[in-house]
Amino acid sequence: MPELPEVETVARDLQRWVAGATIADAEVRWERTIRHPQPAERFAAELRGATISRVGRRAKSVLLHLADGRVMTVALRMTGALIVAAPGTPDDRYARVVFRLADGRELRYRDVRKFGRIGLWERGGVPRPRRRGGARRGVAEAREPYRVGDVFARHGPEPLAHSFSAARLAARLKGRSARLKTLLLDQTFIAGVGNIYADEALWRARLHPLRAADTLTQEEVRRLHRAVRAVLRQGIANRGASFADYVGADGEPGDNAERLAVYRRTGQPCLRCGRPISRIVVGQRSTHFCPHCQALPDEPGPA
Ligand SMILES: [Zn+2]
Repeated sequence: MPELPEVETVARDLQRWVAGATIADAEVRWERTIRHPQPAERFAAELRGATISRVGRRAKSVLLHLADGRVMTVALRMTGALIVAAPGTPDDRYARVVFRLADGRELRYRDVRKFGRIGLWERGGVPRPRRRGGARRGVAEAREPYRVGDVFARHGPEPLAHSFSAARLAARLKGRSARLKTLLLDQTFIAGVGNIYADEALWRARLHPLRAADTLTQEEVRRLHRAVRAVLRQGIANRGASFADYVGADGEPGDNAERLAVYRRTGQPCLRCGRPISRIVVGQRSTHFCPHCQALPDEPGPA
């Protein structure tokens, strides 16, 4: 499942290849892929003639900013991919939406399992509705038209943003008794981290996945902060990790899967201490860690 580095790779590819392109036509082959506006014919009609000005990312969604200010959000979910196809490229039976570009290329939304969703939104909206509390705010929001900012209103901060400091992470961890692994996967806590990069970050920070968040020392918070950012940056540098369907917008898998330290390395030697990597299940998710390097505080660990 694509996480921040995989989605960022797709967004950067698309920025290079389709920024400035005009969408001549959109063909929706699987209607449930379209989240907004509905029906799918309206989505297609509203996109016709639109120019893509810039491509970015928020959380695990690709954002195609249109020249008129509207934004198309693409949540890849399990098996979604956005692939740029040169004219004459054979059709893809898993293409759920095909955006025909005015220059003859196609931007194909491919999705084997069909969990991904695409929306087209007006600009603006509430990035984080936290200014005024109480029910009044909720009522006021309900009256407003739903805009792109509202799509991400409940998402946590971007871990690679300059504003995401160790102090900010410490403030967010304070008073949270949840386990670290659970919290890292919580998109309202931090955006974009999924199972792969949560395991990798905890290994790098030498923190047990079951540690309660509010028991971390300042030094451990700093380590976690550095580790989260480092594993995400490494993922981006290697064009993401491909285990199943993930590919970049060039249709090619990324190189990061072979470079992971713990994820899916159960029984193999820890790259730091040589002892075997363990697998446990936390909140129904496979969790990989080194029981020696990532010991719980009351258990024997490295001196
Ligand atoms: Zn180890």
